[in-house]
Amino acid sequence: MSKETFVIFGNPVEHSKSPQMQNAGLKELNFNGIYKKHLLENGNEIKNVFLENNYKGANITVPHKEFAYTNADEVRGIAKKIHAVNTYINENGKVIAYNTDAPGFLKAIESFGEVKNVLLLGAGGTAKAISLALQESNIKVTVLNRSAEKLEFFKNENIKCSTWDEFKPEEFDLIVNSTSAGLKDEYLPAPIEILEPILKNASFAFDCVYGKETPFLALARENNCKIKDGEDMLLYQGVLAFELFTNTKANKETIEAMRQGLKGE
Ligand code: NDP
Repeated sequence: MSKETFVIFGNPVEHSKSPQMQNAGLKELNFNGIYKKHLLENGNEIKNVFLENNYKGANITVPHKEFAYTNADEVRGIAKKIHAVNTYINENGKVIAYNTDAPGFLKAIESFGEVKNVLLLGAGGTAKAISLALQESNIKVTVLNRSAEKLEFFKNENIKCSTWDEFKPEEFDLIVNSTSAGLKDEYLPAPIEILEPILKNASFAFDCVYGKETPFLALARENNCKIKDGEDMLLYQGVLAFELFTNTKANKETIEAMRQGLKGE
């Protein structure tokens, strides 16, 4: 059988750690395939580029997740509600799309144990995926965002949401940062006057940013929360995509190889 090719589409894509993670999984499985980066400038071309290059599967990152959703032949699972996808599969010439960010997040917070009431900071694409995943799992979720424009989506899905000005605090057990604050800067995702009392009462804090302790996680740690960065979310969205790419169930060894791949250079 000829070698299957998988890619990650993004712009920029150079920084992506998906190839090292996915190639480690393919190697562990002895799968005849290779996973590469594909810099894509025009998101509207995503389906044609995918098919013309005869790619077997792809991941999709910023800024193409919505384009990938609208261009797919068929969208499956929770992605239908999220309206953004991060995985393409070529099924007999048809482009089938999935969102593995949402279940990847749920898998990543399993280590906290039971979670009942979540405060989700941010209202971008990642917040949409996380809030719907929580809602589907019957976990209460409230979205808190800096500005009002992006809140319409959550209102339409009956998800409680507000801006900083309108926020009414309650007891949350997990606080999640899905904003990009703290990614390249030292900002907190919301004013400290809002965050500190909430973190004092919470047990857990999760940041979607990975590979560093953001100001948000540092503040959560100071307030005695158990903290976790976004590495496991990245790993599990990758593992779930890998299972779709290879049509296998990833075992412990494969997941561990992918984790090591992610950590490597
Ligand atoms: P979007 O650009 O879609 O959304 C960004 C959100 O962050 C908006 O709600 C925006 O608020 C808010 N925001 C940005 N800067 C600030 C700030 N200084 N203070 C307060 N709020 C701010 O981004 P995504 O949802 O695609 O990604 C969000 C983060 O999640 C990124 O850091 C990304 O790297 C990470 N991520 C991690 C994954 C993983 O696997 N670990 C997977 C996917 C994403 P406003 O509406 O007011 O502008």
